[in-house]
Amino acid sequence: MPPALHLRPGLHRLPTDFPDPNSTGRRCLQRAWVTQRRSYANASSPLLSSSSLLQRSSHRSKCPLRYAVLGAGFAGLSVVWHLLKHGPKESPMRIDIYDEVGIGAGASGVSGGLLHPYSPKAKLLWGGAECWKECLELLAVAEKTMQAGTSNRIMQDSSCTSDGTMIWRRGILRPATSEKSMKILKENAQNCLEGCSLEVLDRNAAQCLIPDLCVPFNFAVYMPLAMNIHPKRYLEALFLACHHLADVESISSSEEREINLFKEPISSLHGLSEEYDAVIICLGAKVDMLPELSGKLPLRTCRGVVAELQLPANMGGEYGDKSPSILSDAWLAFQGPRRVFMGSTWEWRSKNYASSVSEEEASRAMEELFPKASAVYPALKKWTFVGARGGLRAMPPLTPHGSLPLLGCMDDVIETRGRCMYWVVGGLGSRGLLYHGLVGKLTAQAVISSDEKVLPLEFTSWKKMASKVTT
Ligand SMILES: Cc1cc2nc3c(=O)[nH]c(=O)nc-3n(C[C@H](O)[C@H](O)[C@H](O)COP(=O)(O)OP(=O)(O)OC[C@H]3O[C@@H](n4cnc5c(N)ncnc54)[C@H](O)[C@@H]3O)c2cc1C
Repeated sequence: MPPALHLRPGLHRLPTDFPDPNSTGRRCLQRAWVTQRRSYANASSPLLSSSSLLQRSSHRSKCPLRYAVLGAGFAGLSVVWHLLKHGPKESPMRIDIYDEVGIGAGASGVSGGLLHPYSPKAKLLWGGAECWKECLELLAVAEKTMQAGTSNRIMQDSSCTSDGTMIWRRGILRPATSEKSMKILKENAQNCLEGCSLEVLDRNAAQCLIPDLCVPFNFAVYMPLAMNIHPKRYLEALFLACHHLADVESISSSEEREINLFKEPISSLHGLSEEYDAVIICLGAKVDMLPELSGKLPLRTCRGVVAELQLPANMGGEYGDKSPSILSDAWLAFQGPRRVFMGSTWEWRSKNYASSVSEEEASRAMEELFPKASAVYPALKKWTFVGARGGLRAMPPLTPHGSLPLLGCMDDVIETRGRCMYWVVGGLGSRGLLYHGLVGKLTAQAVISSDEKVLPLEFTSWKKMASKVTT
């Protein structure tokens, strides 16, 4: 469960001072807005809201652009950030985020946080350079907010304080585990990004980095700039960064920006179109549970379990603070000298969304992962299991460019009244952290310009395939 956010005094009210009551038109009817919010959301209060905007807003008169972002995982929060960043400066903007549990409650919060632009066999992914760049930008934004730390007014008031490390910049090492994988790794390693280079290492060089590493084929690929992210801390910091940006933009442009987080389940899209200019659906593997979208997206679900292990305090052999994490048939993401996450299982067609893991499921995961991980890092045998977490990936179909996220406008699928547009950001698969910056940016730009053509065809071509299947 994510930490609960405290409500701040003065932030509980609905924004009754927002629109111009004298204007006509759907978006400008203040009373209609409040009524709709009540009927739609049972008048619940946002968990967190940009209060300064509410206080400053009385003299402003333009109708706000109103966006609903469904889901507060990697996809949803990236969309929020980019809507704020790329939205028209001359319009006020209100973004309501809905999440049934809170920030990072789905796959994002349980993910291993491994970040690099390559496939498990070190092949540069399609769009890898752009994805890497956009992701680094969001990380920098979140890191800056985190460093501002307790001086941030929202951070002081909420319980989602981001103490502890958010990014481990220790690189990732991928030893070859078979003759075949060695050949593939060797070939793939010839093409790499300048911003995330690949180095080919022999056993000695690899063991200089990780003394206990097993390098059976005298070959490993090293990604010195790859990272490991603490996903919850990152998302909480990104959320606070969005609030900060909203405040800054409200001061620098003359138009206000407001963000609200509502801890509410969305069981149907019905009613949203009357309230919002656009609804951006970022519900991860649960997108299929919306009646309007059920069976309409070519997604398969796949549950993954990650186990946490610790080196007991009385045991020598701490993991080096400069030693990289390890990618193999299972991965090991080290988050300290005595703490590691080991992942991940792949249970196709599962419908188990729970982040909690039963004893039985945890022991199955250990049986599967431990032999693979300890084959490359035998010292793991001294480490003990302390817990496990799980989540459901939304896996997109394989295309000639790889498994790419599914983006696009859904108005042809969802009947909508008025000018509201529905958008989807889904199928982030097993690489959501890498993809979320770029797909959030592109989607925000498409939403703001009401133009799906802003999105590269590679991300929208699934729609043609899906319509062929249904016709
Ligand atoms: C075990 C595991 C390990 C992984 N490791 C990595 C990794 O190391 N690197 C990497 O890049 N990727 C990894 N991934 C993949 C990555 O986690 C996903 O691609 C990514 O989290 C998807 O993000 P999302 O925002 O689309 O969905 P989610 O993170 O699932 O977010 C969806 C949000 O919507 C909310 N929600 C759902 N339904 C409703 C509803 N009806 N009403 C309101 N709110 C709702 C949920 O509470 C959730 O917060 C891993 C995934 C798993 C399962």
